[in-house]
Amino acid sequence: METDVVIIGAGPAGATAAINLSPFRRVVVIDRLAEPANRMSESLAPAARRLLSDMGLWNDFLADGHSPRYATRSAWGSQVPDERDSLADIDGTGWLLDRKRFDARLRKTAIARGAKILAPARVVGLDRSMSHWTVKFECSSVTHSINARMILDCSGRSSQLLTPFGAIRQTHNRLICGWIHGSILENDSGQGISYTESAPEGWWYTAQMTDRRRLLAWHTDADLPSAAAVRTRSALLEKARQSTSLLNAISDTSFDGSEPPSVIAAHSSTLKPPAGENWLAAGDAAISFDPLSSQGLFNAIYTGLAAAEALDRALNGDQSAMGEYTERLGMIDAAYQSHLSAWYGLETRWMDQEFWRRRVKMALT
Ligand SMILES: Cc1cc2nc3c(=O)[nH]c(=O)nc-3n(C[C@H](O)[C@H](O)[C@H](O)COP(=O)(O)OP(=O)(O)OC[C@H]3O[C@@H](n4cnc5c(N)ncnc54)[C@H](O)[C@@H]3O)c2cc1C
Repeated sequence: METDVVIIGAGPAGATAAINLSPFRRVVVIDRLAEPANRMSESLAPAARRLLSDMGLWNDFLADGHSPRYATRSAWGSQVPDERDSLADIDGTGWLLDRKRFDARLRKTAIARGAKILAPARVVGLDRSMSHWTVKFECSSVTHSINARMILDCSGRSSQLLTPFGAIRQTHNRLICGWIHGSILENDSGQGISYTESAPEGWWYTAQMTDRRRLLAWHTDADLPSAAAVRTRSALLEKARQSTSLLNAISDTSFDGSEPPSVIAAHSSTLKPPAGENWLAAGDAAISFDPLSSQGLFNAIYTGLAAAEALDRALNGDQSAMGEYTERLGMIDAAYQSHLSAWYGLETRWMDQEFWRRRVKMALT
């Protein structure tokens, strides 16, 4: 089998690239999951509306019933929460997403626009010859291969698939996230509001979801003692009880139950460079954002779009396409690093704690 482009990963970055490239090129997308997984509810930045509208997806997005996020509340740098209303944003509200539904919509649109999706199939290696790539993937324990002119890696923040071809993954920290869900008991006073709170050894995030459940998430570094809180539900709740303002923010919810926390890597990483000879990376595989920024999805869609454009140009023989893509991502990474340092730098109460010492060091390097 031969194609113009193989995209590895059908998450937001890969599906966006496929949606925009498939009308013009032969595109095969490979994902290890038969369908998008259940993931924690994430928020989508208001400015994503522009990208989804450009892709002709805005009405579908609205029909999918994600919850508007009207305000963000945060107790950061001080015990007193600060509230930011989305009325102040020219793009309107943000969104609290049902991630599975969001990802499924993007995948479905990519197929409707002509992409072929191979899933479940896991890419296990890449080989490059003078004229093409050979992508090896496993499907039902059998190894297959497909030839392509170009490769786009959208397989997430830990991908090492492109390292044999000159890309180096720089991992900036060891942040992890452990989260549980609870059932909303009473009124909907907290609906449409997300809450973030810094703590001596990390930070909390909570928000109501579309289905009358509440997400409670703890973020800290994997190698610190505070990471023990993500091992059991009772340990996570015990840690939450140390803050009265957090308890207040989740007081509408029962967290009864025995399900242990889900735990996921949430570190920042950058692939350097994000493009080379006949290959690119987009989304988290190129630059993975700290969840504190709430910008990872926007970046995945934006870089998915930019990668589709660069690939189309490169397939037409445009020699500058990959270099310009690399430059664009360098600018995004620099802006992101500086905003992140500024945001973590607002918290100065716990400079004796390793978690915050590391964030200051990060700002200085
Ligand atoms: C705890 C946490 C909270 C977050 N909260 C937010 C938030 O509130 N707002 C926000 O904007 N962002 C948030 N993010 C970031 C957001 O989740 C990511 O930026 C986004 O998922 C990136 O999309 P992607 O398509 O690049 O990668 P992914 O969504 O990771 O998709 C990668 C795809 O590649 C597939 N894959 C991986 N390896 C292979 C392989 N070898 N072969 C085939 N397929 C493969 C996977 O199955 C998956 O479908 C958060 C991240 C974390 C960790």
